[in-house]
Amino acid sequence: MRIRVPDDLVPLDSILPEEPLLMMGAGPVPIPARVAAANGIVINHLGDTMSQIVEQVKSMSRYVFQTEHGRILGVAGPGSAAMEMAVTNLVSPNSRVLSIVNGLFSSRLADMSERLEASVTRLQVDERQAAQPEQVEQYLRKYKPNVLTIVQGETSNTVCNHHLPEIARLAHEHDCLVIVDAVCTLSTMPLDMDEWNIDAVITGGQKGLSCIPGVSLVAFSERAWQFIEGRNDTLKHWCLDARLAYRFWYEKSYHYTAPVSGILALHEALRLICSETLKTRFQRHQRCSQALQNGIEGMGLSLYVEKPARLTSVLGIKTPQGVDATALLRYMSQRHRVEISGSFGADIVRIGQMGEQCRAHNLFRALHALGSSLNTMGVSLDLPAGVASLESTLEQYEFPPVRAVAQAVRS
Ligand SMILES: *Cc1c(COP(=O)(O)O)cnc(C)c1O
Repeated sequence: MRIRVPDDLVPLDSILPEEPLLMMGAGPVPIPARVAAANGIVINHLGDTMSQIVEQVKSMSRYVFQTEHGRILGVAGPGSAAMEMAVTNLVSPNSRVLSIVNGLFSSRLADMSERLEASVTRLQVDERQAAQPEQVEQYLRKYKPNVLTIVQGETSNTVCNHHLPEIARLAHEHDCLVIVDAVCTLSTMPLDMDEWNIDAVITGGQKGLSCIPGVSLVAFSERAWQFIEGRNDTLKHWCLDARLAYRFWYEKSYHYTAPVSGILALHEALRLICSETLKTRFQRHQRCSQALQNGIEGMGLSLYVEKPARLTSVLGIKTPQGVDATALLRYMSQRHRVEISGSFGADIVRIGQMGEQCRAHNLFRALHALGSSLNTMGVSLDLPAGVASLESTLEQYEFPPVRAVAQAVRS
C-alpha cells in the first residue's frame, strides 16, 4: 500500500475546545440536549419505529407550517437542498419565474431556476428594504410568471419581507405558484402556509428549528402537488424528485437510505416546538430579539435595517468605524467563547435570535462579549447602559411563564 495512515491521528476530544463555544451567529445554532441525544441513535430506516417517527414528523410539521393537507417531505441535505427540491419540482424548462431578490439566499433561488433553463426575471429590491406589493404586482402583470420565489427573512442582510401575506395573495390571484424560503424564520415568527396560500415552504434544520444541519423539510400545497403529479417530463435531480421522495415519506418504501439519526433529531426538535406551542415560541423570540436590539442600541451601536423591514431572527449590526470585523469575531471567539457571524457584503456583523439562541442568559453573554470586545478594540461604548436596556426590555414584556416562576420563587 502506497498511501499510509497519517502520522497525526488526533482524537476528536483533543480538537474540540474544552468549553464549547456559544453559537450566536446566523446558524448553526445551539441544539437542546434531547435533540443531540436523538441525533446519536441509528435505527432501521424502513422499520416500524421509523414509520411511526415519520408519521409524527409529518403531523408535527403540519402544525409548524400551519397546513392541513400540505405534503411534507424531508430531504437529506442542507437548507439549499430543500430550496432546490422546491424549485426543481415546481419549475420546468418552459416556466416563467419571478424571483424577488433581497440578497444572497433569495438570489440563490433565482440561480437554481436559471439552471433549470426557466425564463427568470429578478425583481431586485433596494438594500435594507422589504419587497413592496405594488411593485410585485406590476411585475406579475408584466411578466405573467408561473412561479414566484421569495424569502421570508433574508439572513444575509437581515431584511424581513413583512408584506409576504399580501405578496402571496397577489401571486395567487395571478395564478402563480409561490415558493417561500423560511429557513431562518420558521417557528420564530408567524407563517401560515394555508391561510397565506403558499405553495411550497422550505426550511433547514440548523436555524429556526434549532436542530442539526443536514436534514431539511419542504411542504407542498395541494395545488403544487397537482402540478408535480401532472408533469410528464423526467426531473434532472433524482434525489430531489418529490414523487420518488413520496415513496419514503408516504408509502413506507425505499427511495434512498434516510438520514435516520437526523430524522430522529428533527422529531425531537419538532416535539419541543409543539410542546412549547407556536404562540409562546413567537413571544419568546419577539421578547428576546427586542431586548437584544435595545441592548445593542443602548450601548451605542446601530442596527443595519430600520423597522418594519428589520428581521428579528437575525440582527445586523453596523460595524463601528475603523473596526475590522474579522478581528472582532476572532477576539470574541477566543476571549469570550462566543461566536457571531460576519456578512456577505454589507459592513455588518450578525447575531442570531433563533431557537435556543433566544434565552436570556445567552443574550447577556453575547451582548457582553460584543461590547467588551469592542471596548478593548478602542471603540467607546457604554456597555452597562446596553445591559440595563436588555434587562429592562426583558422585564417589560408580558411573559406569563417567567412571572409565574418569579412568583413561585417569592412565595
Ligand atoms: C441558511 C439559509 C439558507 C441555506 O441553508 P444551508 O443549510 O446553508 O444550505 C437558505 N435560505 C435562508 C434564508 C437561510 O438563512
